[in-house]
This record gives sequence, C-alpha cells and structure tokens, in this order.
Amino acid sequence: MTATPTTIPSTGGPSLPQERRLVTEIPGPRSRELAARKDAAVTHAVGTMLPAYVVAAGGGVLVDVDGNSLIDLGSGIAVTTVGNSNPRVAAAVAAQAAAFTHTCFMITPYDGYVEVAEALNRLTPGDFDKRTALFNSGAEAVENAVKIARVATGKQAVVAFDHGYHGRTNLTMALTAKNMPYKHGFGPFAPEVYRAPMSYPFRDAGVDGPAAARRAIDVIEKQVGAANLAAVVIEPIQGEGGFVVPAPGFLAALVEWCRANDVVFIADEVQTGFARTGDLFACDHEGVVPDLIVTAKGIAGGLPLAAVTGRAELMDAPHVGGLGGTYGGNPIACAAALAVIETIEADGLVGRAREIGDLVVDRLTALQAADPRIGEVRGRGAMIAVELVKPGTTEPAAALAAQVAAAAHAQGVVVLTCGTWGNVLRLLPPLSISDALLGEGLDVLADALAAAK
Ligand SMILES: *Cc1c(COP(=O)(O)O)cnc(C)c1O
Repeated sequence: MTATPTTIPSTGGPSLPQERRLVTEIPGPRSRELAARKDAAVTHAVGTMLPAYVVAAGGGVLVDVDGNSLIDLGSGIAVTTVGNSNPRVAAAVAAQAAAFTHTCFMITPYDGYVEVAEALNRLTPGDFDKRTALFNSGAEAVENAVKIARVATGKQAVVAFDHGYHGRTNLTMALTAKNMPYKHGFGPFAPEVYRAPMSYPFRDAGVDGPAAARRAIDVIEKQVGAANLAAVVIEPIQGEGGFVVPAPGFLAALVEWCRANDVVFIADEVQTGFARTGDLFACDHEGVVPDLIVTAKGIAGGLPLAAVTGRAELMDAPHVGGLGGTYGGNPIACAAALAVIETIEADGLVGRAREIGDLVVDRLTALQAADPRIGEVRGRGAMIAVELVKPGTTEPAAALAAQVAAAAHAQGVVVLTCGTWGNVLRLLPPLSISDALLGEGLDVLADALAAAK
C-alpha cells in the first residue's frame, strides 16, 4: 500500500500495473460523489456491492476513479474470464464496431453469428449433430431453452432444483429458488415449474450422488409425472446458490432418467462455462452430456451474449421464425466471443483455471484446518467457495460472510458472497490474474477472516 497519488490510466487491459494500491479509503471521495449521483438518478432497486467506480481494468486488477487499484476476485460475476479488456477481445470489438454495429441477424445476416454457432456446436459436450441460437442474456437463453424443450416434447412442466439460480425474468424467477432478493413481491410467477431436491454434500451427509438423484426423481415422478415433464433445468455446479457441487453420479443418474422418459436435460452453464471450472464446460468433468446447454457470462469477455446449443432435432423443433430477437447474436458480441474462444484455446486457459483452483484450494484448506468457522471449501478450477458456519455445526454464518467480504473490500480485494443463506464467500478470479496478485488477494481474505469476530 502506498499513499502516492498516481494518474489514472485511460485504458484497461493487461498493461495496467498489476498491483493492489490503495490511495484513498474504499470507496474514495470521487466514488462517493458518483454514488450520490447514482442515488439521485438510478433506482435503488439496482444495488452496488462495492461502490468504487471503475475507470479501467485488466489482468487481475480494477482501477477506480480515485486511483485505487483493486484485486479482482470476481470477474464481474464470472464474465471476464479471459481478463478485462483482453487485447484480442478489445481489437475484435473495435474492428467490428468500425465495420458495422448491427443489422439484426433475422433481417440481413452476417458470418460472425454463424461462426459462433459453429464453435459452440464443436466445443460443447456431445458427439452429435447440433444447432445453436444466440440471445442477449443468460435469463433470455434459459427461457428459450425451455421454449424449445416444450415444443420438442409437446409437454409443459419444467423441474428446477433447490438453491438453483436461472435469472430474473418471469419464467427464470419461477425457476430460481431463492426469494430474497430475486423474487420477493414480483409474482405471480410462470406456471408449471416444480422444484426438486438438490445434491448438496455438505448438508446431505451420507447421501451419495445416485441416492440424491433417486430422491429427486421420486419427487418428480410423484409430484409432476414424467408424462407431463418437458425438461429438467440444472446448473452442474450451482452459482448463486453457493457453488454447490453435487455428489459424483448425481447428474449422470438424472441424465439417464431424462433419456429414458423423453425429458430434455438442460444444463445451465451460464456461470460454469468457458474454462471457468478447469474444463471447457462443467458437464465435461463427469462426462455428462446435456441435450441442451445454455451459456452466457464468460462467453464474450464482457459483451452481452448468450446461447442455447444442443441436439439438432430439438433445436429445429420450433417453427421457422419462432426464435430470435432484435439484438440476439449482435455482431460486436459475436466478434468478442470468437476472440474469447481463440484466447481460451491459444492461451491454454482451461489448464490455467486448474492451476488457479489448486492454488486457491491449497490456501483455503490450510485456513480451514485452523478455523472451524470454515465448514467447507468447494468448487472446481477458478470457481471456489468457502461456506462459513457456526463452529462444529452446519448452521450458516451469514453475518460473518458479510463482515469478511466488507473487510476485504475495504482492503481493495473484490470478493463476492452467495448461497441460499448468504454465508458463502466465492472466488471467481479472471484467468489472467498473476499468481502473485492472487496470493495477495488470498492473504487479505485470510486476514479479514482472522480479524472477524
Ligand atoms: C447469471 C446466471 C443466469 C442469468 O444470466 P443473466 O445474463 O444475468 O440473465 C442464469 N443462470 C446462471 C447459472 C447464472 O449464473
């Protein structure tokens, strides 16, 4: 930490000094001015977790308007996986913006959309004929996956899981489990959505994956009926719900049941996709092959893009013109996505996610050994969380998580919380972060935890 004021760089990317540097308190005076303007101009319903207003970002840092340089362990919620203002992405976006910004793919198409579809068909799990449709947000893509499954099966019901998060539109609010803040007062919600129990090993001692799947399938068969069920929608590792990694065999048993019952298995990989978990997709880890896979967040380096990819016979079930939207597969977002895919492959980012995972897990499990408030360290690759509890129990310690996160923020480290009870600290560093910066971020987190009562 230094008190020397520095000039604020005007551009991001990895050329930014890769350091934590606090020159004011967080948030500083200029950020607080902007926060006051925000309060007067932006609905308070849109909250800000750490109101340090950003002017540049890249590598593993975010630089704020006061000249503070923060360590980024959040990637804007698993979006800037290849690094903020990644040079390939920035160049592709600039070139595309200079050529044309929009035509609407449904009116006069362009090759970027087709190229992204080809790449997704090639890279997603499953060795069969696939098709892709592009959208703007994760929620929009999840909704479209459900539309496709309903048309293809001629059935209506959809099953989602405890602790699941799928977005904030009407149908995806219905799919999302947690009331506060996502659903409260916003109903009525879309009908024909049912909830099944998740495999949550930390809170589910002794229930292995196949047993947890049988428990879920029993609920589905008794309360919904396979003959009514169009689709099962599940995150292979839950994001907002607390980085819940289901027990091995849970997903595979669900897929098997879906296959046998003409139910579409939809993997929501919006948070887990694109190298985040140390595989290109989280389903790859267990060899699980979804019928439809939904991607967004990490797909385009910060540009809004989302996709549904899957079996050609399902994807082609809706009538011609039945899917689309004004901006879906915007050419600039597609150019960014192609640059992201090239970067993941060229820079070996799947392997980098595993390295980051090893570093983070080693450090956190060492902390856990000396701190009974850490109930569990879990996740995969660069998607790791610690669940905080009252020592010796599984009772959630939400206030502790909030206190540790706030202390880390004050020290210039961006960490996020999650979980049904809000008691989970989650780490989603960009894969462009250096080991040194990551280590320093973990030091700050460890100090914050040690100081918290
Ligand atoms: C973020 C998220 C969504 C919603 O994506 P948006 O782009 O915010 O609409 C859906 N599913 C999962 C698993 C997510 O993490």
